[in-house]
Amino acid sequence: ARKAALGPLVGAVDQGTSSTRFLVFNSRTAELLSHHQVEIKQEFPREGWVEQDPKEILQSVYECIEKTCEKLRELNIDISNIKAIGVSNQRETTVVWDKLTGEPLYNAVVWLDLRTQSTVENLSKRIPGNNFVKSKTGLPLSTYFSAVKLRWILDNVRKVQKAVEENRALFGTIDSWLIWSLTGGAKGGVHCTDVTNASRTMLFNIHSLEWDKELCDFFEIPMAILPSVRSSSEIYGLMKISHSLKAGALEGVPISGCLGDQSAALVGQMCFQDGQAKNTYGTGCFLLCNTGHKCVFSEHGLLTTVAYKLGRDKPVYYALEGSVAIAGAVIRWLRDNLGIISTSEEIEKLAKEVGTSYGCYFVPAFSGLYAPYWEPSARGIICGLTQFTNKCHIAFAALEAVCFQTREILDAMNRDCGIPLSHLQVDGGMTSNKILMQLQADILYIPVVKPSMPETTALGAAMAAGAAEGVGVWSLDPEDLSAVTMERFEPQINAEESEIRYSTWKKAVMKSMGWATT
Ligand code: ADP
Repeated sequence: ARKAALGPLVGAVDQGTSSTRFLVFNSRTAELLSHHQVEIKQEFPREGWVEQDPKEILQSVYECIEKTCEKLRELNIDISNIKAIGVSNQRETTVVWDKLTGEPLYNAVVWLDLRTQSTVENLSKRIPGNNFVKSKTGLPLSTYFSAVKLRWILDNVRKVQKAVEENRALFGTIDSWLIWSLTGGAKGGVHCTDVTNASRTMLFNIHSLEWDKELCDFFEIPMAILPSVRSSSEIYGLMKISHSLKAGALEGVPISGCLGDQSAALVGQMCFQDGQAKNTYGTGCFLLCNTGHKCVFSEHGLLTTVAYKLGRDKPVYYALEGSVAIAGAVIRWLRDNLGIISTSEEIEKLAKEVGTSYGCYFVPAFSGLYAPYWEPSARGIICGLTQFTNKCHIAFAALEAVCFQTREILDAMNRDCGIPLSHLQVDGGMTSNKILMQLQADILYIPVVKPSMPETTALGAAMAAGAAEGVGVWSLDPEDLSAVTMERFEPQINAEESEIRYSTWKKAVMKSMGWATT
């Protein structure tokens, strides 16, 4: 039966902080046909530093493509039906590589990395006006964004300085590194990024949609190393044969979609209208609300960012974003650092055993606090402990922390937008956790709604790729977006109880601030 409905296929690379995936969708039905996922390493070479190996990331992409193609063959699906590939990626993470050898010149400095705290302090002393960065980029001057990471690399890595002098260095976020490598690398790879990823570098003017000369001067970034900025949906280049890809699977297929992961999820959740929002629970947690063609500036600690621009001649859409640094990462920490669980899924069992944190609150401010506080001095705390507290309560408190952090950004979003959200659309790796979803509905006191196909980030990238001019296998007309089945979680506790818990959480947040010294 599936054979009959099989339209052109579209692949999507979803390169996240925790893992890499490759997924293949039927463009006619948006059905996910097959996928493969590989977890990737994170290195913590010093306190506050977070790095990844760009070559491991690239290799994981090859592996996922290879394995997915094998699975498709087993399903008797001809991989030559794959007509386009989209890329979605962890944002801000910064890579510098050598364009002649194709070798990375330093590890990728991950978005969560805090090494640039003193860089940020020094820069903020000589900022030409309070609103200089925010008015152009929509972002606060923070360790989170690429410009300061790149500044740090340029200041500290001799190999990079030399490559810049010799005109061999290229900078990119993960999308650029992957697209350049997949389209031929040192043998003619295309050095580009899309407007959504560019808007997270702190070097990009979100009004003119170009690299900003004044910002590049301020951060002292040589513009020659920056990728060209393209729309989120157009043909950037074709897949080139690689020694890592057996038999050149997907050789010649256009790469024609590119979106930062949070933008991709917004598209995959079909939030095309002004006021539509989604929250993604991955390593961090990111609530984005589409604000249409308007750049809305927040009064409550949210970012203004490019949502998407689906075609060279298509208009740009903006979003307000609430970013939470640590969500799923706290579960990974309980697994890897404390060892109280051996898989992320086990957290649900522990939490279920007690059904309450018993007055224990866990503020996982491992990388300072992002929205709405933007407080780099914060560090994680667990408080409210008694002799009664056990690992189950801590597990519960960790899940609750994710929900409270979301509540804080939702409150900020409602204040900035004026019209409160009536429900919350969610996705991401953590949303398979039913206790988390129920807790979230209880703490927000609105229904939480989850699409039955959870891979919305990849779907968004595939849609952008399939809809690109010259590919044209996916139509983005709202009527074409067949009804998606949803799972709903309704609030079950009363608002009063929810408010008491929330206000205690806020007290705990205050205690997490001021721990770190630079
Ligand atoms: P990313 O896109 O940032 O790589 P994912 O969306 O793949 O993240 O989600 C992975 C994160 O979700 C990991 O940090 C993991 O610890 C967490 N996670 C996965 N499954 C569960 C679960 N059942 N309960 C809680 N957390 C989970």
